[in-house]
Parts: sequence; structure tokens; C-alpha cells
Amino acid sequence: MNKRQTYQEQSVSQAVLQCRNIVKHYRQGPNTVEVLKGIDFELHPGERLAIVGASGSGKSTLLNMLGGLDQPSAGDVLLNGQAFSTGSDNERAKLRNQSLGFVYQFHHLLGEFSAQENIAIPKMIAGHSKKQALLEASHFLQQVGLEHRQQHKPSELSGGERQRVAIARALANNPACVLMDEPTGNLDRDTANTIQELLLTLSRDANIAFIVVTHDEQIANAMDRVLTLENGLLKS
Ligand code: ADP
Ligand code: MG
Repeated sequence: MNKRQTYQEQSVSQAVLQCRNIVKHYRQGPNTVEVLKGIDFELHPGERLAIVGASGSGKSTLLNMLGGLDQPSAGDVLLNGQAFSTGSDNERAKLRNQSLGFVYQFHHLLGEFSAQENIAIPKMIAGHSKKQALLEASHFLQQVGLEHRQQHKPSELSGGERQRVAIARALANNPACVLMDEPTGNLDRDTANTIQELLLTLSRDANIAFIVVTHDEQIANAMDRVLTLENGLLKS
């Protein structure tokens, strides 16, 4: 039985991500900045959720909690029913590697590696052989329309192409959920539209849940649900 089948069986009764009363404050000298004041929501299998909000409202902070990259001051995040707070750092990293994909505004690709290698590396970390990982990376590059750019390094690609590679990398471990922080924030309108179409197609085909943090209203409105982050709380 492959991971996807296991996931679909679980998902009948289970949310992909559960965010339970997340509070986050930062200490700055004598002051405490309360960025998130109690965030609650659930993300369902295959659901596409947009989170919008003004700059500085805490969108990236929230996304980092959802991805287990940072720890909340209170509350918990459950990924496929498993709480981040209960595991060790290693267990959290493993859970993240198996079930989540990340896409950032600035692609965060490794400059010295080719497009194909950038996608293969997470698969090798997950335990695939190099040969198998490179083969599968080619498949994912084809899915995002970049089969002709496999050996190009990030600096030899356009902004839109780099973001496609980042998306292919996020999909490479067959995640239950992909978290995206302003995935089109750095692109011109036409390229952003192409990326938006690609995301919608991929999520439909693979039943992957998406959370897109964005201040692009157009991409937000193309999602199934839009929540607004304001004054530390999420509103529908
Ligand atoms: P957004 O992504 O919506 O623009 P962020 O999540 O990046 O907002 O930031 C939300 C608020 O939290 C901002 O006021 C920011 O200054 C503050 N903040 C973010 N990270 C830190 C940190 N490490 N230390 C102190 N304050 C932080
Ligand atoms: Mg941000």
C-alpha cells in the first residue's frame, strides 16, 4: 500500500491540518508583541485555503507554525492527526518531510544544483536512491512544464520557471498539504496567472490540500475558502 492510499483512508474522518488555539508572541526587550491571539481552523483533504491580511499581520508567522518550522507560545498544530508539540525535533522534521511541501515567495532553491537535482534532493533525504530520485524529479518537472530545463541552474531560469521548480520540489514527496507563502508575490501578472492555473490543476489532479498566504486578491479568490488575518485573529 502506498502512502497516498494510506492517507486517503485516514482522511475520510480526519482533517489534514488542525490548528488549535494558536497563540504567538515575540519578546522585544521589555515589550511583548502578541502576533497571533488564538487561531483555530481545520483544513480538509484536497481543500484549497487562502489566508489574506495586511503586511505585518502575522501571515508568515502563522505559516511557520503550521509547517512546524517554529513553535507557538500556546496551542497546537496537528498534521494528519499527529500533534507537533508531542514529538521530538527529529520526529517533527520527519513528519514535515513526509507530509508537507513548502513554496516561498523567493523560491529558496539551491543555487549550485540543477532544477532536476533541486527536486531530487528531498526525495533522497526521504530515503530514495539517487537514480530513482532523479527519475522522479524528471517526472515532476514534466508536470510543471519544464522538461526542457532539467539541467538548468536556478540562475539560468526565469522567475516563473524558478517558482515552477519550487512547486515541483514541494510536490515531490507526495505531501498531504502544501504551504505557500506569497507564491506569486515576486512575479508579473501574466506569470502569476500561469502559476495560479498550474496550482489549481495540480491540486485537482493529486487531491493535495493547499494553504496559500497572499495579498493577491485574484489568487485568493480562486481558492475554495478565504480567511482574513486581522488583529491576531482569523475571520471568514
Ligand atoms: P506578514 O507575513 O503578515 O507580513 P509576519 O508574520 O512576517 O507578517 O510578522 C508579523 C509581526 O510579527 C510583525 O509585526 C513582525 O515585526 C513581528 N515578528 C515576526 N518575526 C519576529 C521575530 N522573530 N521577533 C520579533 N518580532 C517578529
Ligand atoms: Mg510574510
